[in-house]
This record gives sequence, structure tokens and C-alpha cells, in this order.
Amino acid sequence: SIAYLNGEYLPLEEARISPLDRGFLFGDGIYEVIPYYGGKSVGLMPHINRMINGLAAIEIQNTISADDWKALLDDLVARNASQGENLGVYVHVSRGADVKRFHAYPEDVAPTVFAFAFPIKDPQPVDRTKATPMSMISTEDLRWQRCHIKSTALLGNVMHFQQGYAAGCGETLLFNAKGELTEGSSSNAYIVKDGKVITPIQDNQILPGITRRIIIDSLKAEGSIEVEERIVTMDEVREADELWVSSSSKEIAPVTSLDGKPVGNGEIGEVWEKAFKIYSSAKFDF
Ligand code: PMP
Repeated sequence: SIAYLNGEYLPLEEARISPLDRGFLFGDGIYEVIPYYGGKSVGLMPHINRMINGLAAIEIQNTISADDWKALLDDLVARNASQGENLGVYVHVSRGADVKRFHAYPEDVAPTVFAFAFPIKDPQPVDRTKATPMSMISTEDLRWQRCHIKSTALLGNVMHFQQGYAAGCGETLLFNAKGELTEGSSSNAYIVKDGKVITPIQDNQILPGITRRIIIDSLKAEGSIEVEERIVTMDEVREADELWVSSSSKEIAPVTSLDGKPVGNGEIGEVWEKAFKIYSSAKFDF
């Protein structure tokens, strides 16, 4: 099998991609699978256009024109004729390999462009007495509602982080369709109101953060600050005295500005200072 990787054709077994590639680390890329029967493609230009639109939507630079994509993929299929009559072509463009692992889109990183061809099934016979049927199950669509799983499919998080980063902010705060606070794009969230720390319930809408656990447990053990896990509305967030986010790399970060407006009095809060002291003296016990 002959593959295409970053401008070169080579045996598929020899193709190598960096483990720092953002396709691997974040699921940060776009792909297509295009069928070719007897060397003729089905829907090639629509596939190419969907890919080009997807790349533009996630701001990955595409330097290959639609016509050049067509030539490239047709060429790949021709080079793989020995694999059989009917081939699928898998094409994958990722944001490329950065030197660091950081959610925001890197500058000056070339995308990784990879394609390979593989045998696909012959078409079904167009005769209902000979065609093969299939069975299905049905279930509620939960694809974007599994935020409690620390999956490497991070494109949704990456795009949200980038929104805040592009606006000069360190994090983006997220809420659900009901206007309820969930978490940051890469952190858990807390508000402080009248001295009490309030954080969203641990469910499928948030990652069960280790730092979150340490914060809640250490504050409860110390006892001088009340902690509540409950639904927090965005109205409450906008009325809060303090706003924090937490993660293993940020520990507890005090947030003093949200959507261009000050949080509370716009200063780092007293409760943050107390809580961070308690957290800091307890964190190595976890
Ligand atoms: N939420 C999300 C979406 C995250 O990516 C992270 C960072 N891994 C967190 C919360 C914080 O988790 P932790 O405290 O375990 O680092």
C-alpha cells in the first residue's frame, strides 16, 4: 500500500507522524473517506469541498486547491491499483506537530497531510432477494455530552479555548443550553457568593477534575469556608463576588474579568486567598 504524507508518496508501513501531532493529542484535524469503484470516484468534489470547508471552520491553513486535491487523490488510487478494483481513500489533515502541548492554535506550524488507500467491499447486488440487510439499535445522541470522560477528542475544547485566547483571555467559561455554568474549556469553575464557594455538580457535563476534588475535600476538612455543589446559573456567575477556575496546571486561578466586565469588585478576592492557602497546605496529602 502506497501512502501520501506531506508531499511524498511512500510505503504505508514507513509513514511516521510525531506523537506531538495535534491530530494525535487533541483530535485536531479533518478527515474524509472517498470510495473509488473500478478507478472511478463517487462524490470526489463534494468530499474535497467538505474537507476544505471543515479546514476553514477550524482555521487550519489549506494550501492545496480543490483541483490539486483531486489530482493528488486520483494519483494515489492509480498508485494503489494492485490492491484491487474497489478502493477507499482515507484523507486526514491535522493542525500538525507543535513543540509544546497547548490548547491554543500554534503559529508557524505546518499541517500534517496524510492519505492512504484500502480495499472496500463490492457494491451490493441491486436485487432485493440477493442484497444483505442490516439490523440497528437506537439511542439518544450523546456524542457531545460525555464531558466527564477525559477523552483525547479535544477539538471542541480547543476551539473554545482559542475563542478566549484570541480575545486575550487565559480561559473560556462555558455554559449549557439552559444557561447553567458547566466548566472552563480546560478547567473546572467556581463562584463565591457571600463567603460561600459554589461549584457545578459532578455529572456528564464536566470533567471530574482532580484539583476540583482536592479543593472541595480540603476546604470541607478545614471547615472555615462553606462549599456547595449545585446547579449554578450564568446570572449567578455575573452577580458573584468571585470567580475561580482550577486545573492541575493552573491550581486555583482567580478570575477578575468576565466578558469585559469586572467580577465582583474586580480584585482578587479574600475567599480565594483563604482557599488557596488551605489548598496549598493540603495538596500534597492527596
Ligand atoms: N475540565 C477540563 C475540560 C479539563 O480539560 C481539565 C484539565 N485536565 C479540567 C477540567 C481540570 O482537571 P484537573 O484538575 O484534573 O487537571
